[in-house]
Amino acid sequence: MKILPLASGSTGNALLVQENDTSILIDAGIGPRILKQRLASSGVALNDIRACLLTHEHSDHTQALARVTFPKSIKMVANAETWLAVEQQLDTSVYDFYELPVGNLINLGDLSVQSLPISHDGVNPVAYLVHAKSGKSFLYATDFGIMPKWFPHALKLADYVFIEANHDRQMLITGPYPSHLKRRVASPYGHLSNDQTAQILSKYLTPKTKKIYLGHLSQTNNTPQLALRTVSTALLNQGFDLNRLEIEAAAP
Ligand SMILES: [Zn+2]
Ligand SMILES: [Zn+2]
Repeated sequence: MKILPLASGSTGNALLVQENDTSILIDAGIGPRILKQRLASSGVALNDIRACLLTHEHSDHTQALARVTFPKSIKMVANAETWLAVEQQLDTSVYDFYELPVGNLINLGDLSVQSLPISHDGVNPVAYLVHAKSGKSFLYATDFGIMPKWFPHALKLADYVFIEANHDRQMLITGPYPSHLKRRVASPYGHLSNDQTAQILSKYLTPKTKKIYLGHLSQTNNTPQLALRTVSTALLNQGFDLNRLEIEAAAP
């Protein structure tokens, strides 16, 4: 199983997962040039992608659909509510939509993907748990303000984890965002802070997980160094061996 974050953050999110010759995209929130460039640098063409799974309708997760002509062979996977919200933003008639109700599983070649509900201010936002034929699992969870009940169980299964570490609480409070936006980001329907992510991981992570990607870092209210330091310190304090666990801040 290969995981390649193509872009991450409030300006755009997209990630590629590969198992043998099965490639899927999770979210498509970046511009066409960067998308094609980053795919090409890993030897993947748009035509090679079997499906694009959307977590929710916010434009930083969907904007590529309006600007790239994805081949019709790529299944667009989301729940009905999310797809309806996407339809209000762009012309979706060119796409082959596959409805994946929350909690259900879709088989895509050598990968299968389950959608799981999360708390965010989209119409029906989800995280995805990806299982590969090789037995490896990957948890993709971004854009959520509080930990869902299912999270500890899914984390236990995951060899690789992508989780958001959106903001440093202090930087958010003292930063330039207007107060309604500060409240939204910090709310249960907003985004996880570095501290929240560190707490969740240090409480529920198991030695099965070999790599953590910290994603959706705010360019205004966070830095990669701060996110990495906050999470690493919490895990070290909890007795994790950081020689056996890789932690990376996903690039914007
Ligand atoms: Zn969002
Ligand atoms: Zn987002």
